[in-house]
Amino acid sequence: MPTRTFRLPSRPWTAIAAVAALALSLLISMPTNGFGASTSGCRVDYSANEWTGGYTAQLHVTNLGAALSSWRLTWSYAGDQQVTSGWNAAVIQSGHAVTAVNTSYNGTVVGGGTVDFGVQGTMQAGGAQPAAFALNGVSCGDNSTTPPPTTTPPTTPPPTTPPPTTPPPTTPSAGCGSATICSDFEDQSGSTPSGNWQFTAPDCQGTGTVTVDTAVAHSGSKSLRVNGRAGYCNHAFVASTTDLSSVVPVLYIRMWVRHTTALPTGHVAFVSMPDSSQGGRALRIGGQNGALQWNRESDDATLPAQSPTGVALSSPLPTLTWECLRFAIDTSAPKLDTWLDDRQIPGLHADGVPTQDIDQQWLSRTTPPRPTALRLGWESYSTGDDTLWFDDVAAGSSPIGC
Ligand code: CA
Repeated sequence: MPTRTFRLPSRPWTAIAAVAALALSLLISMPTNGFGASTSGCRVDYSANEWTGGYTAQLHVTNLGAALSSWRLTWSYAGDQQVTSGWNAAVIQSGHAVTAVNTSYNGTVVGGGTVDFGVQGTMQAGGAQPAAFALNGVSCGDNSTTPPPTTTPPTTPPPTTPPPTTPPPTTPSAGCGSATICSDFEDQSGSTPSGNWQFTAPDCQGTGTVTVDTAVAHSGSKSLRVNGRAGYCNHAFVASTTDLSSVVPVLYIRMWVRHTTALPTGHVAFVSMPDSSQGGRALRIGGQNGALQWNRESDDATLPAQSPTGVALSSPLPTLTWECLRFAIDTSAPKLDTWLDDRQIPGLHADGVPTQDIDQQWLSRTTPPRPTALRLGWESYSTGDDTLWFDDVAAGSSPIGC
């Protein structure tokens, strides 16, 4: 037999490397919590109640860092969970990624303080409950070392609409009888808008039209129909003759809108409000990059910022269905909120505290908007034909439901 079949390394650098590798492996094998706990600025307890087809979840967020004046919590679902609504937060989901943003009343969280909100959603196959969260973009570490409370599958048939553990804020009434503007267009006669609604083309007029339609309506048998045409100078709007200047401090607007063609990549607007705080130049909502967007004519600022992250925090406007679109425009502070079918849109939320990708650019001007009138129609600045209908339009100083 050979007397020597193997020789240990004898070169000193090899031994040093071996020691270094051992140290590195020990470092890697240490519990990650040992590091996460020291650098994490947050802790999230996610507690779900699941049933066949759906779930609700309570999120209890502890701020382990410095005081916050606004917050954004993000996580990803592993399975097919799909958020449909939230309470005490504006929640939106894109693919598996979920973003929750504070409301106007719970953005401030002191160091060591907590905030609670909830989500409701659908799921078919389901999936693991999320364990990794980030608060304002900073990872909270892996919460899975503390298992979330488990739930027992119900043995009785689940309710079709489970009550959330914490009820959402009171839903305002859909009626608008006492609102400053309350119009179902049933009083319109003929195809040309008349009375309280007058055609206008504020900048220039081309082939776009607005008519009273008796074939499509959200309520009754009449609505406003806009034949929107691409290209600047095809502006076409109908303006309410009602002066909104005295609606304070918050101007609430609700409208039902139905449209035909997905919002284009180019910039378009379908609601335009002359803003006396900007010399009469318009505050408008429309779309860009396929998603809803606020735009300020005076400086062309957008809400959200048109970064991919910002656009993802907004929402497309679904086509071929009546959608309830609602705004709360604060005329005493630079705050603005937007709901689509009772879902608050995080990317269309200005809260006075600059948030990157959302309202940082928008808040470059801190003068609150002062809309004086409501105009519905279409203006495109490049591409984008669309046919839209508006119905059950309301504006006033109290929240208006869908
Ligand atoms: Ca109607």
